[in-house]
Amino acid sequence: MRVLVTGGAGFLGSHLCDRLLAEGHEVIAMDNLITGTTDNFTHLAGNRRFQFVHHDVTNYIYFKGPLDAILHFASPASPIDYLELPIQTLKVGSLGTHNALGLALAKGARFLLASTSEVYGDPQIHPQTESYWGNVNPIGPRGVYDEAKRFAEAMTMAYHRSHGVDTRIVRIFNTYGPRMRLRDGRVVPNFVRQSLLGEPLTVYGKGAQTRSFCYVSDLIDGIYRLLMSDEVEPVNIGNPAELTILDFANVINELTGNKGGIRFEPLPVDDPKQRQPDITKAQQLLKWEPKVSLNEGMQMTIDWFRNQADVYE
Ligand code: UDP
Repeated sequence: MRVLVTGGAGFLGSHLCDRLLAEGHEVIAMDNLITGTTDNFTHLAGNRRFQFVHHDVTNYIYFKGPLDAILHFASPASPIDYLELPIQTLKVGSLGTHNALGLALAKGARFLLASTSEVYGDPQIHPQTESYWGNVNPIGPRGVYDEAKRFAEAMTMAYHRSHGVDTRIVRIFNTYGPRMRLRDGRVVPNFVRQSLLGEPLTVYGKGAQTRSFCYVSDLIDGIYRLLMSDEVEPVNIGNPAELTILDFANVINELTGNKGGIRFEPLPVDDPKQRQPDITKAQQLLKWEPKVSLNEGMQMTIDWFRNQADVYE
């Protein structure tokens, strides 16, 4: 296949490009580089099945030649990114999705939307099944991301129903691994960086809120299986192993031998109190479930961050 990955220079986008190339496909990564970086492609130099196009998908996408699939991964994705880039976040989820769907229609390409567990907001159903409609504050600071992704899902289904575009929607839960941005403000890079510097880990609130962390290779495998399946409705992909943020901080301090302890800081507005994917649908339809444990995955992630020069800057 010839596949376009929007947001291809980002954390998930670049891992997806690697997987598609490994499966023998031709890959075009498109990115405006506001949160992504071409550093994520240095290992692909000279690969004749790969090319990078610098473009902001909120503007009309001109693309020559055939495409078999479009994977729409462009978006700021960490809470501090979308607090700093609220309008861009809304635009890429809405206008960007519309443009990418329009291109899929024009090319007769399959379309896969990177959606998110944030469509469930601060969920009142636990664990979250795909049939849950969510509990989102539309005017809160996180609303720019949550509502853009909810709009993106609605637009994807409308293109499927009205234009017959062959679409897929993956709802991605918290994912971690190499190539996360050190300063994207998310809990994994923050804790790893703080622990490597011997500093206290900044736990927001009391740390009683829960998350369920999925290692990137597991997530990418789930997404690839979904792309190759014929399921049009949303599918959760994530690791159901749930823990509190305080427990997570203790795991990191133990894995790194950090003696810096923990420092409590204020809880951000609308921070979801609990999050855990129900992956029954992925298990049944895609024969998928995560394989990498938190300890194994975090060890690989810590080793990767340790070798990044800017950790110590
Ligand atoms: N968090 C924290 N300390 C940090 C960064 C994040 O305690 O330095 C908490 C945050 O309040 C949230 C959880 O960790 O409850 C996960 O935050 P993240 O920004 O990684 O992603 P989210 O799941 O909220 O989108």
